[in-house]
Amino acid sequence: MNAVLSPLSDIDTETSAPAVSFTPKEVLLGMSLEALRALVKTMDEPAFRAEQLHQWLYVKCVRSFDEMTNLKKSFRDKLAERFQVGSLVVDQKESSQDGTVKYLFRLPDGKVVESVLMYFEERGSYAMCLSTQVGCAVNCGFCATGKLGFMRNLSVSEIVEQYVYVQADSGKEVRNIVFMGQGEPMLNYDNLMDAIEILNRSAEVGMRHITISTSGVVPRIYDLAAKNMQLTLAVSLHAPDNETREAIMPINRKWPLESLMPALHHYVDTTGKRLTIEYILLAGVNDQPSHAHALGALLQTLKCNVNLIPYNPIGDDYGYKRPSGNVTHRFREVLSGYGKKVTIRVERGVDIAAACGQLANKVQDA
Ligand code: SF4
Repeated sequence: MNAVLSPLSDIDTETSAPAVSFTPKEVLLGMSLEALRALVKTMDEPAFRAEQLHQWLYVKCVRSFDEMTNLKKSFRDKLAERFQVGSLVVDQKESSQDGTVKYLFRLPDGKVVESVLMYFEERGSYAMCLSTQVGCAVNCGFCATGKLGFMRNLSVSEIVEQYVYVQADSGKEVRNIVFMGQGEPMLNYDNLMDAIEILNRSAEVGMRHITISTSGVVPRIYDLAAKNMQLTLAVSLHAPDNETREAIMPINRKWPLESLMPALHHYVDTTGKRLTIEYILLAGVNDQPSHAHALGALLQTLKCNVNLIPYNPIGDDYGYKRPSGNVTHRFREVLSGYGKKVTIRVERGVDIAAACGQLANKVQDA
């Protein structure tokens, strides 16, 4: 089995790293309406300019001050002297046959992250998968991003701009956001929370249409429960016992099931929200009926749905194999017997390697 373990103690998992600026000018994307109001006041402009600026940034999603045509030229010039609209540059863009589009963004410090735009035909709606970190410290054994190690947190503006850029570039109305891209969102918690507030209040993405996916950062699950937000929490469980989970997810050593499960029950009890449990199926590792029975028993009293993800090796397989269709369906059947709603994830963008971290790894390594 290929499980390279990286001690999470290498990084501070209790607090978000302080914001670091990599741009010569301050970036406007990521500022709230209140912050823009304070800004225009310091520039001796009337208050309504803040609303106009806010519209250009988050509704019309323009990339330059010149496009903000209802702002007077002298104000645009003053803005351009001190600020820039955003900081991301598209390095690569790939489209899949199924309509999935993958964007590889170059950050101001030269690092890269990716975002994925997906179309769900059955719902007739678009969703975006956003990144929150460059690399990831969690190092799940099957994940390309984990192999990079942790490089840095994304700033609030870098998180928000992924959404704003793709919305403008695609011309699509993207109403669903999942934080399932590169990085562990809950290890960039403060920036994640600020970015969600901007996406919800300024870009008007409904809170019920936002999903945070975590590998199980227990203290932050309690913090999120205290906020009682209407978003969806998805938890990557991937195994029903500590031994199996630890072999594929080193984070289980820090927060084993004895601490994770009470946190999940607390989250449901506090918010009343149903959790999504993510479970990647790895052939011969966690895909047997005995695992399905153990998972059913573990989740029996937890208000949750389960999403099964048959592993799909692209490039490196890290020693893992995809289970057969029969094995996947048998697993689902056993688990459904425990009264859970169980879905099997439909893959998106397989032909462009839209799985987490695949493209960014190629470019980051180059
Ligand atoms: S699966 Fe998610 S949490 Fe695990 S290493 Fe990859 S990016 Fe990090």
